[in-house]
Amino acid sequence: MARYFIYKSIIELRKIWAIVKKDRYDRFANELLDVLMRSWDENTRLVINEVIRQIKGEQVFSRTELDMIIEALKIRLGEAFANEVAQPLYETHLSTYIEGVKDVLQVTPTLQQIDHRAIAALQNHNIYWVHSFFDRQLADRVTRIGQTIIAEGLSRSKAGKIFESALSNELQQFSWRYWEGFANHVVTRSRELGHVDAYVQAGVEYYQVKAVLDLRTTEICRQMHGRVFHVSQAVELKNKLLNAQNPEEVKQIAPWMRADQVTGKPTSKLPNGLALPPYHFNCRTRTVKAKIPPKIAEIDLTAAGAGKLLKDSLSYVVNNQEQLSVKELKKLVTRVQGAGWDNMQAHFNKHKDEEFTQWKSVEEMNAQLMDLIRRGGRDIYLQLYLSKEPRIIFTDNRLFLSIDPVRNKIKTIFSLKRETIKALQSRNSKYILMKKGKTINKQLLWISKKLKNGSLRHL
Ligand SMILES: [Zn+2]
Repeated sequence: MARYFIYKSIIELRKIWAIVKKDRYDRFANELLDVLMRSWDENTRLVINEVIRQIKGEQVFSRTELDMIIEALKIRLGEAFANEVAQPLYETHLSTYIEGVKDVLQVTPTLQQIDHRAIAALQNHNIYWVHSFFDRQLADRVTRIGQTIIAEGLSRSKAGKIFESALSNELQQFSWRYWEGFANHVVTRSRELGHVDAYVQAGVEYYQVKAVLDLRTTEICRQMHGRVFHVSQAVELKNKLLNAQNPEEVKQIAPWMRADQVTGKPTSKLPNGLALPPYHFNCRTRTVKAKIPPKIAEIDLTAAGAGKLLKDSLSYVVNNQEQLSVKELKKLVTRVQGAGWDNMQAHFNKHKDEEFTQWKSVEEMNAQLMDLIRRGGRDIYLQLYLSKEPRIIFTDNRLFLSIDPVRNKIKTIFSLKRETIKALQSRNSKYILMKKGKTINKQLLWISKKLKNGSLRHL
């Protein structure tokens, strides 16, 4: 089948990319995907040649032929497929587990250090998903195609062509997407079980969730990114997973959750099923060892190296969706009262004519910003900008002020009212003002989105 070669070249490309990126786990996933696709394709081809192409002639296609096709697919894409891929699947479990241990211990584990019971349980659970994919996801689709053919009264030869085309196109693509997600899932699960065993062996106390942040990252993984757990939580989850009687029970122990189910929740209040990725099908999220940073109350902000501690401390607070105490917040607010601009005059020129500013002088601007920081009634947010830079934000629905508390610099200020944007756009048809308006608009949308998914935290 020509299509397979297209897939094959995509997989090859990803393998090269994984090598360039030096990402061993991407490579394991791609190798497994390659095996799954090749075997899937081969078994599909056998059904087409041995069964579907034998259904010929001008007689009307009937339920008998449909049952024959489904029976053949069930055997080939269920039992035969699962038997073929069982060994490579086992190898993937074993090698990703070992790589997971190596991530932490920096040495290859000895045979005795490998939890063979864990690998056997993973194999047992995952081969179930391989074996049952046709029944769970494809059998109904094939049946519906057959029923439509029967309802239309098409001939056997026409029906054969339709099935051949469906199996080589839409159904094959659908299956390919499933195997891609499955391969990532297998790699993530076994690597993380390797991590857990190594954390225990190395005496690591805490670990942190680390999502691969790109366009494909899911909302749940953005929510989980940066959260810190105690290793005992991972051990507990691992034991439960391995003791599960069947794959359905695994789903109950570590259920897929939606981002809004965890947004705003402190890590300490999350169900233990979230202690380890995968957090969804096709998940690439990892864990790394971590330390708990000092609390803001414990940091001497005047000491050398305080910036780094403050950064770690604030990042921890936002990542774990924790609250600052009143005292800590006060300490932070006091600090940023001394925040400076990189270029005060440029900011004054840029913002002086906005609806809620109307500043006559730099001094007036500073006074109003200082007032926004000091007075009550304004909202304060703590934000982790681009997942790594802490910001403290003051807003009163008229002004928006964002400060980097680590370097103690004002980063952003703008007027919040939408009318301002409209006025900017309508008053002046010059291209530059349109762009300015758009920028403000975009920023507002971005803020409301961040507020919704919790990476911007309302204090
Ligand atoms: Zn994920």
